[in-house]
Amino acid sequence: MAFKLPDLPYGYDALEPHIDARTMEIHYTKHHNGYVTNLNKAIEGTDLENKSLVELMLHVSNYSTAVRNNGGGHYNHSLFWKVMSPNGGGEPSAQMNIAKAINQSFGSFSAFKEQFANAAATRFGSGWAWLCVSGNDELFITSTPNQDNPLMDVAEKRGMPILGLDVWEHAYYLNYQNRRPDYIQSFFNLINWQEVTENYNEANKGAMKL
Ligand code: MN
Repeated sequence: MAFKLPDLPYGYDALEPHIDARTMEIHYTKHHNGYVTNLNKAIEGTDLENKSLVELMLHVSNYSTAVRNNGGGHYNHSLFWKVMSPNGGGEPSAQMNIAKAINQSFGSFSAFKEQFANAAATRFGSGWAWLCVSGNDELFITSTPNQDNPLMDVAEKRGMPILGLDVWEHAYYLNYQNRRPDYIQSFFNLINWQEVTENYNEANKGAMKL
């Protein structure tokens, strides 16, 4: 069963002015699509064809570099599109479980924001910043290189990712050039907290405890 490029949940121009339409179109139709195509090539005719994407991530050290890079690319971008929304941004409402969890783990929303932005800004080269749920239900922030993610058994710090930010130059260079910190600040205007709180609730059900 081949993996498929998921639908983008909004139009290419929906996240403007924070993410421009051209960047979104190239990112989705070339980069994400490429990861899906190359992942399918890498698993074709092997027993990995029967595994879920999450299973591939959890045991990725057993597989080829192509599975690690393209499987990670597929997983990461599938999450990334969904945690942004044209109606997103601001702080999660106080009733959302994620709002309480952020306050418990980081002390305040602004402390969370600062730590997340710092993780994204200081990731050297290409990679991702993440908000994750740990095995003991706490939130933590981390970053990973290339297309790695915290689900992978090769990750420095493992957990269930519930929010991710792509800091590869392909994600922002057309609009922001070298100004990664400006792109990171714009991301806070797009975060779909409804989706993040749903991801948090799912992670807390325990099925994905690491
Ligand atoms: Mn990307």
